[in-house]
Amino acid sequence: MRGDGELTQRAHDEPAHAYRTPFARDAARILHARAFRRLAGKTQVFTRLPGDSTGEQLSDHFRSRLTHTLEVTQIARTAARALGLNAELAEALALVHDIGHPPFGHAGEKALDRALRTHGLGFDHNLHALRIVTWFEARYPAFRGLNLTLGVREGIVKHSRDYSAREHPELAEYLLDSFPPLEAQLIDLADEIAYLTADLDDGLDSGILALEQVRAGVPLFRAIHDDAVRSYPDAAQRLTVYEALRRVLNALVSDLMAEVRRRVTAAGATTIEEIRRAPARLVGFSAQMETARAETKKFLYQNFYNSPDMEEVHRHAEQVVTELFAKLMTNPELMPEDHQAQIPSEGLARTVTDYLAGMTDSYIEQLWARC
Ligand code: MG
Repeated sequence: MRGDGELTQRAHDEPAHAYRTPFARDAARILHARAFRRLAGKTQVFTRLPGDSTGEQLSDHFRSRLTHTLEVTQIARTAARALGLNAELAEALALVHDIGHPPFGHAGEKALDRALRTHGLGFDHNLHALRIVTWFEARYPAFRGLNLTLGVREGIVKHSRDYSAREHPELAEYLLDSFPPLEAQLIDLADEIAYLTADLDDGLDSGILALEQVRAGVPLFRAIHDDAVRSYPDAAQRLTVYEALRRVLNALVSDLMAEVRRRVTAAGATTIEEIRRAPARLVGFSAQMETARAETKKFLYQNFYNSPDMEEVHRHAEQVVTELFAKLMTNPELMPEDHQAQIPSEGLARTVTDYLAGMTDSYIEQLWARC
């Protein structure tokens, strides 16, 4: 049986640090990784506004993957601490949760996956994150990767989806048939809370979403916005929108924490093994808030992520990724030497993918323009 102690195990044994816990060290290793720093240049929803081919109109206050990651970390750390969970594990998991994302957000991920499928491979940002922390980051003379604890690696594998043990025998070490600890379960929801509220904010700010449209399509927002306007009838509209978004975020986190407490008590789960073997994940929203979450997400997909305005942005992302992938497959000498050196062991298609996936949006644009 795997208990708390096993979660701190590393693939390569290291002596304990004098004053830092294993998970705090993991959080620091992630924070200092090159792949983490590149999140600053990667799209969350957009790096440029629809219809703007030059990027000149881009405001630099929209979320990037880095600022999104920091918002998730803030929510996860707060909720974990308030629930009596391991806040350092939650922090490390939040910091790493999007580290495997390629440039251009989900459009980039889809294009990379499609390109790789023609070579019998596939691209998945969770598995790519695992690859980055277990192999790709080269910072230590004693081992490849960051040598993170098992608890953090398991959380990466179990972020936002479940892999079948049959299809992924290479992931056997991560107990695919059981739920992860509560800290890892928490990250999925902290991620949703962060992006649902932030994307309403950025959507309104960019003008892609109109306030009346959000009020009509997101009942949770409308009710809370009405309250905010009642509290501050004379305040500027944008300030009552911010007030409403803050209250929405707080309502989601508070509901989540109450529901976790309720489910853990109802399941009588007091050990990590009982959490792993519970009939369902123990971190979730109440039924009522789950409905509100689903409505909000559906609204954002229809009106923001997949809105007609964004089609051109997605098409461009797909074109850049697809064309560069093909170019590098036929001209691997265009890659830096340290990447070329990995072709014999990793294969050409995976090496090209590692290179492309690591790029920021602006780097891949420049390379595409040159090639
Ligand atoms: Mg995320």
